[in-house]
Amino acid sequence: MQIELTPQQIEQQTYFKTFVEEYVIPQAKLHDQQQHTPPELIQRLAQQGYLGAIIPKEYGGGEMEAITFGLLCEQIGRASASLLSLLTVHGMVCQSIMRWGSAEQKQQWLPKLASGEIIGGFGLTEPNIGSDAKSVESVAIAHDDHYQLTGHKKWISFGQVADLFLIIAQCDNKPTAFLVERKTAGFSTKPINNLLGFRSAMLAELIIDNCMIQKQNLVGRIGFGFSHIAGTALDHGRYCVAWGCVGLAQACLEASLHYTKDRKQFGTFLSNHQLIQHIIADMIVQIKAARLLCYQAGCLKNSGDPALIMETSIAKYFASQMVSKIADNAVQIHGANGCSDEYPVQRYLRDAKIMEIIEGSSQMQQIIIAKYGYQSFLREMRKNH
Ligand SMILES: Cc1cc2nc3c(=O)[nH]c(=O)nc-3n(C[C@H](O)[C@H](O)[C@H](O)COP(=O)(O)OP(=O)(O)OC[C@H]3O[C@@H](n4cnc5c(N)ncnc54)[C@H](O)[C@@H]3O)c2cc1C
Repeated sequence: MQIELTPQQIEQQTYFKTFVEEYVIPQAKLHDQQQHTPPELIQRLAQQGYLGAIIPKEYGGGEMEAITFGLLCEQIGRASASLLSLLTVHGMVCQSIMRWGSAEQKQQWLPKLASGEIIGGFGLTEPNIGSDAKSVESVAIAHDDHYQLTGHKKWISFGQVADLFLIIAQCDNKPTAFLVERKTAGFSTKPINNLLGFRSAMLAELIIDNCMIQKQNLVGRIGFGFSHIAGTALDHGRYCVAWGCVGLAQACLEASLHYTKDRKQFGTFLSNHQLIQHIIADMIVQIKAARLLCYQAGCLKNSGDPALIMETSIAKYFASQMVSKIADNAVQIHGANGCSDEYPVQRYLRDAKIMEIIEGSSQMQQIIIAKYGYQSFLREMRKNH
C-alpha cells in the first residue's frame, strides 16, 4: 500500500503554502503580541473559501474532500495555531448544522457561514465543567414558543468576534444544543487575555442571562447535545487539530534546520553535532508518523467509515503529544535565542502545549482509546471461543 497525494491535492497544497507564506506567517508574531486577529485576515480566509471549505456546494461552500481540508489545516497550523483554531471552531459549528441541523437551519445559516458573513463559535466548556462535558451547568427551560437559556461559558475561541454560537445546556436535565446569536438580548461576552498560547485566538467568556431562544434554534433533539452534536463537532475539531499539530511541528523542524545551519559552536555548525542530528532525526520521524495517522483518518473520513472517529482520536492524541515534544526540542536547539521573541520557537512551544488540552485533553483521548482497545480485545476473545 502506498499513500500518495493526487496531482490536485499537491496543487492545492502548494496554493495553501503560498497563501500562508504571503498573508499569515509575516503577521503571526505581531498578532500573537497584540492578542488580536484583524478582521481583514478573517475576511481574507473567507474570500479564499477556507471558512466554507467543508460546506456542501449547494450552500455556497467548497465541499472540500477530507485530505485536502487536512492539508489546509496543516498549512494554517504551520503559520499560526491561533488562526487554525478559527478554522476549527467555525468548522465545528458548520459540521454540526450539516449533520444534525433541520432543513431550515441549513438554509438559514450555512450560506452565511460559508461566505464568512458570520463566524461560528463553539460553547461547551464552563468555569466548573471541562472534560466532564455532559455535565454542563447551563440550563434551558422550555416554554410554549421559546427556550429560556441561562449559563456561563469559558475559554471560547474567537468568542470576542463570533456571531453565532453552538451552546450546550441542560434541558430537562439532558445535554441539548442550541444556536445562539450574539445579538440576542441578555447575551454578552468578556475577553480572556494573557493566555500561555493561542494568544490571537480572541478567547472570551460568554454570559447567557435569560436569553429567549426561538424553538427553531434547537439543534437535533433534546438530549442529543453531548452524544450527537458535541460528538460530531469534537470529531471535526480533533481532525483539524491533529493536522494543525503536524503543521506546527513542521514549522519547529524548519526553524531548527535553519538555525543549526547558521549557528556555530565548538568551531562548527550545530548541524554537525551528532546529538543535534539525533534530535532532528527524531523530529522528522515523529512528524512523518503523525502525518500518516492524519492521512489514515482522512481516508476513512472520505469513505465514511465509522472507524474514523477512533482513528481521529488516535491521530489527535499522537500529534498533540508529538508537537509538544518537538516544540520543546526546537527551543532547546535554539538555546537562549529560543527563549526570546526574536525567534518564533517560543510561540510554537506555547501554542503546542495548548494542543494537548483542547478538543479533549490527552488524558481524555487515552481513556477513549484504551476503552476501545479493551472492547476490541473482548470481541476477539469471544470470536475465538
Ligand atoms: C486556548 C483554548 C481554547 C479553547 N477553546 C474552546 C472553545 O472554543 N470552546 C469550548 O467549549 N472550550 C474551549 N476550550 C476549553 C477546553 O476544551 C478545555 O480546557 C478542555 O476540555 C479541558 O477542560 P478543563 O480545562 O476544564 O480541564 P479539566 O477537565 O478540569 O481537567 C484538568 C486536568 O485533569 C485531567 N482529567 C480530567 N478528568 C480526568 C479523568 N477522568 N482521568 C484522568 N485525567 C482527567 C485533564 O486531562 C486535565 O489534564 C479551550 C481551551 C483553551 C486553553
